Amino acid sequence: NFKKSLGQNFLTDVNILKKIVDAAGVDENDDVLEIGPGIGALTEQIAKRAHNVLALELDDRLIPVLAETLEPYDNIQVVKQDVLKADLKQLLSKHFDGQHHVKVVANLPYYITSPIIIHLLETGLSFDSIVVMMQKEVAERLGAHSGTKAYGSLSIRVQYQMNVKVAFIVPKTVFVPQPKVDSAIVILSPKEILALPKDEQFFFKVVKGCFQHRRKTIWNNLQSFLGKKKVNKEKLQQMLLELDVSPKTRAENLSIDEFVQLANKIIELKIIEK
Ligand code: SAM
Repeated sequence: NFKKSLGQNFLTDVNILKKIVDAAGVDENDDVLEIGPGIGALTEQIAKRAHNVLALELDDRLIPVLAETLEPYDNIQVVKQDVLKADLKQLLSKHFDGQHHVKVVANLPYYITSPIIIHLLETGLSFDSIVVMMQKEVAERLGAHSGTKAYGSLSIRVQYQMNVKVAFIVPKTVFVPQPKVDSAIVILSPKEILALPKDEQFFFKVVKGCFQHRRKTIWNNLQSFLGKKKVNKEKLQQMLLELDVSPKTRAENLSIDEFVQLANKIIELKIIEK
């Protein structure tokens, strides 16, 4: 009795579950946030090694199941909660003591993988690491380098503040019910942000805008998303020249650093006219 709409594909292979917890390097110094515990198979493996586990599950039918399965563990708290609506800062400070590293370990509901990751990155919390299972294709987009097909605004949004590593692939055959595609375990760890945007939200907007039409040039995308009438074209041309970015290139060829510089220059040179 699974809810497909909630992305319920359960994993029961204990070896794989242990491998996930291994990849996260969970030990007694860690408090772990789990998203979507399902029937608690991964939760149990995490609890065996972690200090405390907080598991957020949206499906209220699973709450009593989880209470029963996880009854032997006194370091697990299950909360019925939509992770996307959660004030994670507040939740974590309520359930964790602040004396332990905080990690995220989860087999994510696939229909909302990107929103969840962005939500985690936007909390302003410094997670020690985020180790999550997702569709292989999404994992590839997260880790993609410039110049490749998979590289896009999601790659940049994540790699801007995290290192991305694909730990291993999990075949679709080990899930119940079986999903259509294979999965991957991704390890996100915080990195030092070297090139700082003047305005982070504007930087994200520029990235999205430049990828709006993947096949169009930077020149065309920049103009259409900044507003053709408002853009000072001479300044825009001058800026691209200064940054050594060809107006004819496409967004997929620009590095994160180049996008940061682009966003900063648009503000600095007042390229958008009031
Ligand atoms: N952790 C389990 C496992 O590994 O077998 C289940 C993973 S299953 C892919 C995803 C889980 O996330 C389901 O239990 C689903 O009910 C739950 N879920 C879906 N949307 C959610 C949301 N917005 N907030 C919290 N949990 C959610």
